[in-house]
Amino acid sequence: MSDVRNVIIIGSGPAGYTAALYTARASLKPLVFEGAVTAGGALMNTTEVENFPGFQEGILGPELMDNMRAQAERFGAELIPDDIVSVDLTGEIKTVTDTTGTVHRAKAVIVTTGSQHRKLGLPHEDELSGRGVSWCATCDGFFFKDQDIAVIGGGDTAMEEATFLSRFAKSVTIVHRRDTLRASKAMQERAFADPKISFVWDSEVAEIHGDQKLSHLTLRNLKTGEQSELGVTGLFIAIGHDPRTDLFRGQLDLDDEGYLKVQAPSTHTNQAGVFGAGDVVDHTYRQAITAAGTGCSAALDAERYLAALS
Ligand code: FAD
Repeated sequence: MSDVRNVIIIGSGPAGYTAALYTARASLKPLVFEGAVTAGGALMNTTEVENFPGFQEGILGPELMDNMRAQAERFGAELIPDDIVSVDLTGEIKTVTDTTGTVHRAKAVIVTTGSQHRKLGLPHEDELSGRGVSWCATCDGFFFKDQDIAVIGGGDTAMEEATFLSRFAKSVTIVHRRDTLRASKAMQERAFADPKISFVWDSEVAEIHGDQKLSHLTLRNLKTGEQSELGVTGLFIAIGHDPRTDLFRGQLDLDDEGYLKVQAPSTHTNQAGVFGAGDVVDHTYRQAITAAGTGCSAALDAERYLAALS
């Protein structure tokens, strides 16, 4: 069994690396589990990031994450590209187990496992990500000036994405599986009143087409089975997110949608010495800068917790 560390960080997106940077600079020698397949987090799957402050010309997502990683490592963060597969966060000394079965122990744990956007599960969806297919209007809307865009979904997020995108786009078509929306009345009314937004009801995306860039969609009407083509160069998928919290169920308090509950504005969870930051906590903002911001808060909360122990 390993020595007891000060702090273990689970997850390596902007939240995890920022928490690593701060705890490393506080001489806490953090141990970071970056994840086996997706070290670096969600931005490893994108191209240009134009809204992370400090990069006047923008920066590629993987480059931004490599920089954050190197910055944390420079101050002594120990980084392991592996998944944590089980945890015991209930005692004063927390244990986390990696895929080799090795048990690691720490006085504090910071959870920054992020959330997974739901996909349509269609061919070409992944390869056209960043080339017309997106899950974030705030991040990518600006790239779609004067273009025809489809938004998939019928909830508040889909309406919000559509009304935001209509500022830039030539047209926005909302494609929804049913003939009524789940979104709140106010959000629906705003979308209905927008002259650039139109609706295709009772329909789903059957196929995504494009060579290098998205060119059009095949839609299928779920009532009639009829198929039609929709020419769009932007596809925003707004059918929800799944926070990565299965590992913590039964030990950490989660909300109805599975997000980690923290005692906002702090990052304390219901277990003393366990902190949560980034998209695993955040329903609302889901941005790299907000994840980095709460990663910093979690590091400071952990530092203060550890200082009070000694
Ligand atoms: P993530 O970045 O999701 O990182 C979580 C990490 O935890 C992952 O590395 C994962 O492997 C790891 N992990 C999960 N479970 C375990 C485990 N059991 N053990 C070990 N590790 C684990 N935001 C912007 O601000 N600007 C943009 O332009 C932008 N573009 C985007 C483009 C795309 C395609 C996507 C998907 C998102 C984009 N975002 C953008 C949103 C941004 O990426 C997220 O808000 C941000 O990455 C969240 O950071 P995070 O650290 O909370 O989680």
